[in-house]
Amino acid sequence: MHKIKKTLFLAVLFFIILNFRASSGCCPFRETNNSWSASSFYCGICGFYGSLTKSLNTHLSSIGLLHLRTLEVYDTRIRLSVTDENAGTEPGGQDGILFGYCDFGEKYGYAHINSMPNRGIAAVDITYGYDDEIDFTFLEENLCPDCLNKILTGYREAGADNCRNLFLIDFQTMEIYPLPENVVSFMRDDYYFHIDHAEGRDRVLIFYVPGR
Ligand SMILES: [Zn+2]
Ligand SMILES: [Zn+2]
Repeated sequence: MHKIKKTLFLAVLFFIILNFRASSGCCPFRETNNSWSASSFYCGICGFYGSLTKSLNTHLSSIGLLHLRTLEVYDTRIRLSVTDENAGTEPGGQDGILFGYCDFGEKYGYAHINSMPNRGIAAVDITYGYDDEIDFTFLEENLCPDCLNKILTGYREAGADNCRNLFLIDFQTMEIYPLPENVVSFMRDDYYFHIDHAEGRDRVLIFYVPGR
C-alpha cells in the first residue's frame, strides 16, 4: 500500500514538473496551431494577406496565372477589372494591345502576355524553368483546405504526370485549374482555352466567349 502511494506521488510530481517546463518554455504559442493546413485567414491565395484576398477578388474579372511555388498571381488582363486604372482609356483605342511580362523567379521561368481586353483575347507564352514540379508540402502549409482541394482536384483529373507548377485561376469564381500537357483545348465557364505544347514551353490562347 505504502509503495503504491509513493509511486503515485512520484507520478504526480513528474506531471507537475513536466507541465511547469512546458508552460515556462520559450515559445508559448507553439502549441496553438499544430494542425495544418492553414486557416482561410492565412491562406496564401484567398487569405487576408493572400495574392487574391477575398475583399479584392469581388472587383476582379479576369483569368490569372497562379504559380504554385510562389503563390503569386499574374493577371492576363483578358478582361479589365473595375479597379484597373486604365479601364476605358486603353492605349491604341478599341483594339489596344496590352503587353505583360511575368518573371516567376530564377528556377521557375517566365511568361509574356499579349492581351486585347476590348476583344476578350489573351495570348500567354510560358517558358518553364528547370524546376516545374509541384511541392505539395509547401501547398499544405500555406493554403486553406478549400484552395488546396481545388488544386488537388485539377491535378488528379489531369493525371499526375501532366501538371506543372503553373495553374490558371478565375478571379470571379476562384476556380483553379491546370494546363495539362495532354490537353489541347478546353472550355471553362465563359472562357475557351487552346494550348500549344512544346518542349519546356506552352502557348495558351484564351478567349472570353460568354453565351448568347
Ligand atoms: Zn484559400
Ligand atoms: Zn494551336
